[in-house]
Amino acid sequence: MNTREHLQALNEELRRLKTEGRRTVSVSEEALATLRATLADQPDEEIAGSGSAPVESLPVATRVVVAGVADPGPASTRPATPPKPAAPMAAATFTLPDGDKATRWNALREIVLNDKVCKERVYPGKQIVFGVGSVDASIMFVGEAPGGDEEIQGEPFVGRAGQLLNRMIKAMGLERGQVYIGNILNWRPEMGGRNSDGSQTGNRPPTVEEMTYCLPFIRAQIAIIQPKVLVALGKTAVDGLLGADRFKSMGAARGTWHQYAETPLRATYHPSYLLRQEGLKSAPAMKIKRDAWEDLLAVMESAGLPISEKQRNYFL
Ligand code: URA
Repeated sequence: MNTREHLQALNEELRRLKTEGRRTVSVSEEALATLRATLADQPDEEIAGSGSAPVESLPVATRVVVAGVADPGPASTRPATPPKPAAPMAAATFTLPDGDKATRWNALREIVLNDKVCKERVYPGKQIVFGVGSVDASIMFVGEAPGGDEEIQGEPFVGRAGQLLNRMIKAMGLERGQVYIGNILNWRPEMGGRNSDGSQTGNRPPTVEEMTYCLPFIRAQIAIIQPKVLVALGKTAVDGLLGADRFKSMGAARGTWHQYAETPLRATYHPSYLLRQEGLKSAPAMKIKRDAWEDLLAVMESAGLPISEKQRNYFL
């Protein structure tokens, strides 16, 4: 095999892994060094010529992880190191214009999408993620932070967790466009987290500093939308909206009403956590799914939505 064929094979394998849902692959230092040395030895045409698989065309959504550190990827498309806070972050400050909900929401969106700190933390080609939905929504969901799919599409909850959230919204008798969906953080936190099975995730939870910076953005969205009910999806959203350290666990936060300023808030499990229960028939997994649905029934009641008998007996 020549270099071109090797790269094509590598490209195909990365694409196959990506279709299986893998967002990261681990590569040893030795393998990386060999690849770098091989590439350095090749004339440009062989790597970049038509029909070849130039490094830049490798599926960039599949980030390479070396010893738990995100590889910056090709120099032409990524910074030399992952985005790092340039200085300690205080809370973001901005001023919104007077006006109706749409005017204020559009102004806030522009502020966030052009925010220097947010921009510095997003990889080239990826997007800052602002909230979506109806500015007149009665129900507002708040998640943690964008993932890989979200930073590509620039919209919250569009990946697997988002598809489950869509099903949850539908089960409530609503369309996605009728609610509002935002996140505590507006950029994807760089990698380093671990799944319960020990495998590496694409995301890690936001740091306190990152949350502190972005919280004014989600608070402003809540102030503009003025939903009847807030739904905090997962512990990060609970911590962000109700205060870190107020609840030790999701179990302690859910199942009862809280208050965010004047707005009733219900905490429930994050869709990613619910996805991990999917297909499990154990009593604890069944209880988690039923509890999550009961949270949503309480939200529907509070928002004044009708609840059918079928919905009452539903199970996520
Ligand atoms: N998880 C979140 O918390 N937010 C998203 O937008 C996607 C996944």
